Amino acid sequence: MPKPPLTILLASPRGFCAGVERAIEIVERALEKFGPPVYVRHEIVHNRFVVETLEAKGAVFVEELSAVPPGVPVIFSAHGVPKQVPAEAQARNLFYLDATCPLVSKVHREAERHARIGRQIILIGHAGHPEVIGTMGQLPEGAILLVENAEDARTVQVHDPENLAFITQTTLSVDDTAEMVAILQRRFPHIHGPKKEDICYATTNRQQAVKAIAPQCDAMLVVGAPNSSNSQRLVEVARKLGCPNALLVQRASDIDWDRVGDVSRLGITAGASAPEILVEEVIEACRIRFEVTIREVTVTSESVQFKLPRILAKPSVATA
Ligand code: SF4
Repeated sequence: MPKPPLTILLASPRGFCAGVERAIEIVERALEKFGPPVYVRHEIVHNRFVVETLEAKGAVFVEELSAVPPGVPVIFSAHGVPKQVPAEAQARNLFYLDATCPLVSKVHREAERHARIGRQIILIGHAGHPEVIGTMGQLPEGAILLVENAEDARTVQVHDPENLAFITQTTLSVDDTAEMVAILQRRFPHIHGPKKEDICYATTNRQQAVKAIAPQCDAMLVVGAPNSSNSQRLVEVARKLGCPNALLVQRASDIDWDRVGDVSRLGITAGASAPEILVEEVIEACRIRFEVTIREVTVTSESVQFKLPRILAKPSVATA
């Protein structure tokens, strides 16, 4: 029987961002340079496939520094860590490498700058996400107020509306954040903040690409992990922007074809921590069921690259 036709609208940009590529490379180079095991505090990026691939090469993932034995290198994940984590590593004489994305570090520095000049800080973000824990942990407890949604923005109580700043998590919904920022600016006209928000280029571009294809799609598959903030936001953006049947899948074997339903146009994208190989796997799964035509929809191109820590900048050279 001939297979039914399916047009895949492939969002671009999708998948790995510069911060994720850098973080993974830090682990790979550390394994080459120091040899296994290399410990990593928290999933280096939120993707099971990436974590398992690095585990197979000798990386050991732990949630707390207390699980790191003496004498082995430890890497902090791309999401950033509270200040107490490097302090604890120093106190224990551990050798550590920080894979925090430079765009997250930039938000940490903003928070410190505001605090230095006496401003109370509102962080727009999701409670419990490691990036939020890391950002709040740049300053003493209580220095940063967390605003998670528009209702919080309408009700948050501050010490001094004249001496106030906001910062944001980097992986939020651009539209939801704009609404929260507008509420805060209406309530506190003198609030300081970044020109727009701190949402990174990769999150913004992936959401733009989803917006471009969502209204044309019968269903959309977002390749990403349930604990990946930017992947979850892509699902929400697709649903809001005209494709209610948007589903998060970690990989091809997760696809619930009953939920995908009758499709002739399927959108596919991937969160910033999902490797392209998993997108290819999803496309192959489509080919088993459909006669596939692929149309890539590119909204912008990306050329951002971040430097590695100096100690890893060059591949180690073997000596005779
Ligand atoms: S999603 Fe953005 S902030 Fe997060 S690692 Fe990638 S570039 Fe950095």
